[in-house]
Amino acid sequence: MSEKTNEKDSDLMEKIVSLCKRRGFVFQGSEIYGGLAGTWDYGPYGAELAHNIKELWWKHFVTEQENIFGISTPTLVPEAVWKASGHLSGFSDPMIECKKCHHRFRADHLEDKKKCPDCGGELGGEKAFNLMFPVGVGSSGDGVAYLRGEIAPGMFLNFKNVIDSMHPDLPFGLAQIGKAYRNEIAPRDFLFRVREFDLMEFEYFIREADWEKYFEYWRGEMWKWIERVGINKDMVHELEVSKEDRAFYSKRTIDFEFDYPFGKKELYGLAYRTDHDLKSHSAGSGVDLTFFDEETKDRFFPHVVEPSFGNGRTMLAVLVSAYKEDMMGDESRVYLAFNPKIAPVKIAVFPLLKNKPELVEKAREIYKQLKKEFGAVVFDDNGNIGKRYRRQDEIGTPWCVTVDFETIEKDAGVTMRDRDSGKQKRMQLPEIISFIKSQFS
Ligand code: ATP
Repeated sequence: MSEKTNEKDSDLMEKIVSLCKRRGFVFQGSEIYGGLAGTWDYGPYGAELAHNIKELWWKHFVTEQENIFGISTPTLVPEAVWKASGHLSGFSDPMIECKKCHHRFRADHLEDKKKCPDCGGELGGEKAFNLMFPVGVGSSGDGVAYLRGEIAPGMFLNFKNVIDSMHPDLPFGLAQIGKAYRNEIAPRDFLFRVREFDLMEFEYFIREADWEKYFEYWRGEMWKWIERVGINKDMVHELEVSKEDRAFYSKRTIDFEFDYPFGKKELYGLAYRTDHDLKSHSAGSGVDLTFFDEETKDRFFPHVVEPSFGNGRTMLAVLVSAYKEDMMGDESRVYLAFNPKIAPVKIAVFPLLKNKPELVEKAREIYKQLKKEFGAVVFDDNGNIGKRYRRQDEIGTPWCVTVDFETIEKDAGVTMRDRDSGKQKRMQLPEIISFIKSQFS
């Protein structure tokens, strides 16, 4: 079995985009109407993959942690919030327009800021372009709100509600997963830069003196997450963001960058946001968002460490990490070596032959039993067995179970095939169930 490494494959991006379309992971948003740039539709396997990543993230950063509360807040957020947080004036990217073809570019992504990369024409001056989408709210449409450009304000706006209802001590965190919207100047690179995406994020409220300790703690947890979800950690690099490039309120930011096929770019961010947000929203709303320390009788604004994760960029990094090509016998194959925890389908069950009712019946019985145990189990009797294995390999199904004549005639169990090695082993069903369970614990 020979394996090509991802880095050497210059067509990798094209192969992944095409596999995603062919196998029902990701389609162009609103495709039959010509598409809307920067939007993508998730098909059955894409939706399952995105969901599994969210579920694992929630487990890792919410339910397995001692003091993180999960919340969920609306995507429609009134203008006053963005005024107070500084997003109305500051949530922008530098934009440059070509005087000839009128194409627009992110100024900070251009090597030559004088010559248009598309037509060679002269480029105009740099302007700040606000990324937030305004929306009219109410029947008159004159209530101004914005689709949230980040989900963090939801956590700051509920700081007092959670203090008053849950009475947590410091440190504690507020987490959520939800849509963010950014009117990106130049959406590109598949799921990497889009206009609507799911963020997975939390704000960790601490005493100022502890910020370095918790910054390091969450930095470590982010690396654990990277491994747990199945991103190749050798392809992830930390970038210490310089003072000039950090948000004005941040005292330290680390970007976790990934070697995408189109270059090394941001995957996740970890920022120490000081007490900027609670202070700004206290001033903006007129509501006291300080924390009262019962022991010391001190009242103060907690500081915040914020780890931030894009779901789409995670999906892309997982796909790039999992994409493999090898030779199986004398046939080439493509497979996605997903971590079973996030694989859209866990097990596929086949009867060896479609036209033998006794095999089909037994396979359906086993399929039902496995489905009850593991949920994401499929039954497939289309085409020959080799084709079925290839289909499951391409969507990253870790195990295929086949019912053959020995199953029926000799009560010899079924064959279980491992996706990565292609090796088959004959096993009894209870053995299979306990083996697969052990892979999820
Ligand atoms: P970039 O510099 O790439 O525009 P950013 O620094 O503005 O990103 P953050 O504001 O830190 O990004 O956003 C938090 C996370 O949200 C990022 O680490 C990334 O995973 C994700 N993200 C940001 N913008 C997009 C986008 N347009 N499409 C998909 N994911 C995004």
